[in-house]
Amino acid sequence: MKTIGLIGGMSWESTRLYYSEINQGVKQTLGGLHSAKICLYSVDFHDIEQLQHQGKWAQTAAILAKAAQAVEAGGADLFLICTNTMHKVAAEVQAAVNIPMLHIADATAQHLLADGVTKVGLLGTAFTMQQDFYKGRLTQNFGIEVLVPNVEQQAMVHEVIYQELCLGQISQHSKQKYLAVIQDLFNQGAQAVILGCTEITLLVQQKDTTVPLYDTTAIHAQSAVAAALGKV
Ligand code: GLU
Repeated sequence: MKTIGLIGGMSWESTRLYYSEINQGVKQTLGGLHSAKICLYSVDFHDIEQLQHQGKWAQTAAILAKAAQAVEAGGADLFLICTNTMHKVAAEVQAAVNIPMLHIADATAQHLLADGVTKVGLLGTAFTMQQDFYKGRLTQNFGIEVLVPNVEQQAMVHEVIYQELCLGQISQHSKQKYLAVIQDLFNQGAQAVILGCTEITLLVQQKDTTVPLYDTTAIHAQSAVAAALGKV
């Protein structure tokens, strides 16, 4: 079994889901007392969030590059950045190490295409919904058309991520607002909706809607299990 490097803490509320999901996946596959070999580097999200909102992405890349080097030195054979948003600096982080990174958008795209989804809605931080590093990758590399919420909805989705979900707060009111946005995207022609922020699964799950949802946290974690066990 390979050792999985996790760059987490963005936020820790979702990193704990990765830890659990990866261990569950290894247990399901290998049985008994098997568990995942994981090397976790968890950052202080306060620092990352401040730099993000000041547009100081090069500084965030430096922090994550150091984290990637630490998990490589700790024995990781591959690594994950446990957040969609921070894939904005994925190339810089990958360039800092010799072990491969499993890209969250690639893992998600493979699931979408396997299910025949070529037009999808995307929920995430404003950075993820507005900028090209994520949407562009889905479209250019995989031919997937991406719909995003309108401006007011984007602001609400972004605010709930940073003011509630990353602080571990789950609000029924916010859940209803998210479900309305998901339904809107479906009504506009999206065949499914990507939960493109690793905390959204804490708020909204497949049981809450008939619109097919793609939980990037679970998909990314499962891709790590497959890679660690040599299934890909
Ligand atoms: N975890 C979130 C994501 O998947 C947002 C936190 C962050 O800005 O990294 O995008």
